[in-house]
Amino acid sequence: MYFSLGSNLGDRLANLETALGLLTRVCPDLETSRIYETEPIDYRRQALFLNLAARGTCGESPEKVLLRLHAIERTLGRKRGRRYGPRTVDIDILLFGGRRIDSKTLTVPHPRLRERRFVLLPLLELEPGLSDPSSGEPYWKALLTCPPGGVYFHAVSRYTVRSLISWR
Ligand code: ADP
Ligand code: MG
Repeated sequence: MYFSLGSNLGDRLANLETALGLLTRVCPDLETSRIYETEPIDYRRQALFLNLAARGTCGESPEKVLLRLHAIERTLGRKRGRRYGPRTVDIDILLFGGRRIDSKTLTVPHPRLRERRFVLLPLLELEPGLSDPSSGEPYWKALLTCPPGGVYFHAVSRYTVRSLISWR
């Protein structure tokens, strides 16, 4: 299963770190891309995001995993004491093997995956040859038609992230 994580509120790095630590309880073999600093796309007048992609094997159904992702988001939100404010962390399911899911609560592959450079670049860092399970089109091709939006390497390396998630 492939995930996308993002944060643009509070201590963004600490938020990602906490979320990754909790996510390793869902997927014990979790691996991550490097961290990217990215420009917001929908509402431009907000702080830059930190984004990364992660992948791991999960023993549970995608719907159960989604509930656990929401629990992690809530844990981080509650810590900051904001009930309805912007979220400190967003965790999305991008892909689940070659499966397609279209339920009330879950769409996989993630419906906006192909339009978001901040999702595609970290994802392709993890697995450059990934392709869309429906069309078979490689995701790197989607980068060519993606709306613009800055995506920059952050100073924290992939290896630092790995050490962050290993001290859980
Ligand atoms: P977004 O991630 O688009 O900014 P939210 O995190 O608020 O928005 O997600 C809204 C809803 O999207 C969730 O309640 C969830 O049920 C639904 N959803 C559908 N497909 C997915 C997916 N692949 N990953 C995560 N959430 C999803
Ligand atoms: Mg989300």
